[in-house]
Amino acid sequence: SVKGSGRASVAFFSPELVGMPSRHAEMEARLRQAVLERSFVLHYQPIFDLQSGAIHGQEALLRWQVAADELVLPEEFLPLAEETGLIVKIGEWVLESACLQARAWQGGDAAVAIAVNLSAPEFRRPDLVEMVRNTLKRTGVSPQLLELEISESLAMQDVDYAARTIRALADLGVGVSLDDFGTGYSNMTALRRLPVSALKIDRSLLIEHGADPAGYAILTAIFGVAHALALRIVAEGVETEGQLAVLRELACSRVQGNLLGAPVKS
Ligand code: C2E
Ligand code: MG
Ligand code: MG
Ligand code: MG
Repeated sequence: SVKGSGRASVAFFSPELVGMPSRHAEMEARLRQAVLERSFVLHYQPIFDLQSGAIHGQEALLRWQVAADELVLPEEFLPLAEETGLIVKIGEWVLESACLQARAWQGGDAAVAIAVNLSAPEFRRPDLVEMVRNTLKRTGVSPQLLELEISESLAMQDVDYAARTIRALADLGVGVSLDDFGTGYSNMTALRRLPVSALKIDRSLLIEHGADPAGYAILTAIFGVAHALALRIVAEGVETEGQLAVLRELACSRVQGNLLGAPVKS
């Protein structure tokens, strides 16, 4: 069960149990074991160029394989993985695996970009740039094909550090996108200082025509700022034709969502 995985995993990590100290310790032990055994899989969701309809890239999305037929989604274990620092090791596996997949896809004529999410402990590791450089080298993936995603709120927590790190990654040839954009402080002045290549508009900001004039004004304003700063916009979580129509009208660069393609194993 994959998409039923949200439901299937309830018995495994029900909220009441997660709150119990003994259960927390047990989950941590299981997660540590999973890191040793590499019991994770990546699903990939296509990112389309809206103008041409071609696939621009694929976003790697992490799942914990707790049993042969049971996957657990990030929302259920990412907080614990971040809190314990285990995400740093898991993230190394994610990057390596995603690069190897990109390499396999490179076999065809069109190169497919690969998007990889980083959470706070990964973004803050002092050797991040070196680790990324080494992984690209080892796997033979062109830096131009890698796009790292950090959330807008993470970037805004320490703009100086974020600006420096994103610059160093850009110098390598690796692009950085601001994920879940529009759900944090959306500090437009700080945005100007971040050498990011794209904004990923959170799905909560997507609207259909006529449904929500204020929502439409907000979306239009974000596109205006992105355009002025020469940033691409990727809309994530597109679920309806109505949302897609609005995005077309606003000349959105790229789109991603279940309407166009759900995350699947490679
Ligand atoms: P995200 O990076 O913002 O990824 C988008 C999330 O929206 C994914 O959830 C994706 O499966 C889901 N999604 C895609 N299309 C639709 C749609 O049309 N409708 C709806 N309702 N949802 C859609 P997922 O896979 O559960 O991942 C959740 C979050 O976990 C990600 O959000 C990302 O922040 C984090 N994450 C995922 N993989 C990794 C990873 O390898 N490393 C780290 N550090 N974080 C990860
Ligand atoms: Mg993402
Ligand atoms: Mg995210
Ligand atoms: Mg997002």
